[in-house]
Amino acid sequence: MSTVILVTGGTGLVGKAIEHVINTEPAGSRFGKKEGETWIFASSSEADLRDPEQTRKLYEKYKPTHVIHLAALVGGLFKNMKHKLTFLRDNILINDNVLHTSYTHHTKKVISCLSTCVFPDKVEYPLDESKIHSGPPHESNFGYAHAKRMVDVQNHAYKEEFGCNFTSAIPTNVFGPHDNFDLEDSHVIPGLIHKCYLAKKNNTPFVAAGTGKPLRQFIYSYDLAKLFIWMLREYDDVEPVILSVGEDEEVSIKEVADAIVKAVGFQGDYSFDTTRADGQFRKPASNKKLLKLIGGFEFTPFEEALDTTVKWFLANYNNARI
Ligand code: NDP
Repeated sequence: MSTVILVTGGTGLVGKAIEHVINTEPAGSRFGKKEGETWIFASSSEADLRDPEQTRKLYEKYKPTHVIHLAALVGGLFKNMKHKLTFLRDNILINDNVLHTSYTHHTKKVISCLSTCVFPDKVEYPLDESKIHSGPPHESNFGYAHAKRMVDVQNHAYKEEFGCNFTSAIPTNVFGPHDNFDLEDSHVIPGLIHKCYLAKKNNTPFVAAGTGKPLRQFIYSYDLAKLFIWMLREYDDVEPVILSVGEDEEVSIKEVADAIVKAVGFQGDYSFDTTRADGQFRKPASNKKLLKLIGGFEFTPFEEALDTTVKWFLANYNNARI
């Protein structure tokens, strides 16, 4: 039986990581390509998934049996704060088109991607899969958060009404090669890598936004890719799974900046601009469900993953998203 796996958002940070893992892990192994599998990595230029007609054409072209749905309007704190309606609307449209077309085209399985941003702002920590809908999200990104929460609601409704095998993954903050390294509109790690690189190149101070105190769990994109491949093959339940390193592996933004300074080899002045917003102070998420189901998984050590990401950025500066 042939299996066609369509990865929407296949040209982004996570999509590129899945492509890398599928092509580099030994064929037939747990995370490598299996016999009879065809993997399609779709970009927005092939189909703008906000548009139902373009979505339908994409499904008719590839006839996917399985979908890993990553496509989304994604951005860091400042972009989210500036464009709440656009984040809400674009993501609602993309998700509705992908899920409904998967249903009408009899796709066997869809794994969509949420984010720990979807969780309530005021909630008992650690976050776990049962707490998604138990209070409003943080004000800074409510557009993105509500659009993503609705995917979980849709998955349950598609399962109850039509028996669809739709589920979702909830990654914490992702970083790795092929990230968006834009100086203003990116997530914290790629943004700081780019800033630090420029500070070194121009011999200027390296200034990180915020106090440096907030704590985050970061997952390396290549590790996350393996976890998506595991979910695709081995997880068949509508309830989401948090894909993350453990709660004991939270790192502060200052620790991140320190590691970047080291990886870039920056030796100039370095400080924090405390007038800039910090976002949520911390939001530790539990990976207990994941570890229980997967039966052990080795995450890449943070500094090693960061070093590889910085090296990738330096080697690909001319082609990177900056
Ligand atoms: P990127 O911004 O790197 O990539 C986004 C992808 O979505 C690109 O392939 C882009 O295509 C595609 N896309 C965007 N808009 C459309 C559209 N209208 N139609 C079709 N495709 C579109 O995102 P990531 O790889 O970082 O994120 C992947 C998923 O993971 C997203 O669902 C995101 O919400 C989630 N996530 C990400 C986290 C992170 O820290 N990065 C954290 C938690 C969750 P193209 O480039 O061709 O325009």
